[in-house]
Amino acid sequence: MTPPASQPTRIVNAMTIDVEDYFHVSVFDGIVPRSAWATLESRVCQNTDRLLEILGEHGVRGTFFVLGCVADRFPELARRISGAGHEIASHGYGHRLVYDQTPEAFRQDVRRAKRLLEDSTGQAVVGYRAPSYSIVPRSLWALDVLIEEGYTYDASIFPIRHDRYGIPVSARHPYVIERKAGRLVEAPASTTQVGASNLPIAGGGYFRLLPYAWTRWGISRVNRSEGRPVIFYLHPWEIDPTQPRLPVGLVGRVRHYRNLDQTETRLRQLLADFSWGSLRSVLPAFDATALPHGVSVALPYQW
Ligand SMILES: [Zn+2]
Repeated sequence: MTPPASQPTRIVNAMTIDVEDYFHVSVFDGIVPRSAWATLESRVCQNTDRLLEILGEHGVRGTFFVLGCVADRFPELARRISGAGHEIASHGYGHRLVYDQTPEAFRQDVRRAKRLLEDSTGQAVVGYRAPSYSIVPRSLWALDVLIEEGYTYDASIFPIRHDRYGIPVSARHPYVIERKAGRLVEAPASTTQVGASNLPIAGGGYFRLLPYAWTRWGISRVNRSEGRPVIFYLHPWEIDPTQPRLPVGLVGRVRHYRNLDQTETRLRQLLADFSWGSLRSVLPAFDATALPHGVSVALPYQW
């Protein structure tokens, strides 16, 4: 039931963090060679520790999609996140866009990340989010690979229009996808519907570029009018205004660097304004059989 607008909502929303360094971001593909990653100053540990501190102050336990190559280089970091009570999930190993990989290379990438994260934390890793939401119509085969590799939910299909990702016609709230390999829960980053369009309200560049009032309005609208939780996402480098600047074009510069100095304040406000938990905790039951069937219309593509 939807509570009246005057009452605070008790809905618990999902707080998710994609744990990667500032130079892993897809906007720098082709600008920063992978061979240079090991030579660049890493700031992922200090920024993630800061996020752990902020979430801890608000008593929030979220989901951390940890990049495998980060956990490989800093095994203690994944253990600290897990030790603080957060869910550990996988952001893959090497931060390659799904649609730029072969199915076999993708399989090796997600298998390696899952094993590494499970070995270092002792937690079962069942959730996956692709770099830059790169599960799109032409890379839906990745869902079969994820099912076969033991993942039970995916958070990679963004139901919006964007130049690099998105399936605008896909469902806006968690749903079950039936595939040849089995079933999987899809947990999309949140949007609000304005006219015929789904507009992003919950995280990343949209959280930094647009005024905080947009995020607050959008989340309240989903919580109150639809009675559903939102799935919010953020990266550790987004609270680091003094990170080294990399040579990128104007669009990339705006997307990556704009308002970095305001993110922490906004995040604290966000944590105070709404209730938060892990992604796993907001899925109706952590079992694909418990979510509604018959949503195959959400994905009219078969690749
Ligand atoms: Zn990423």
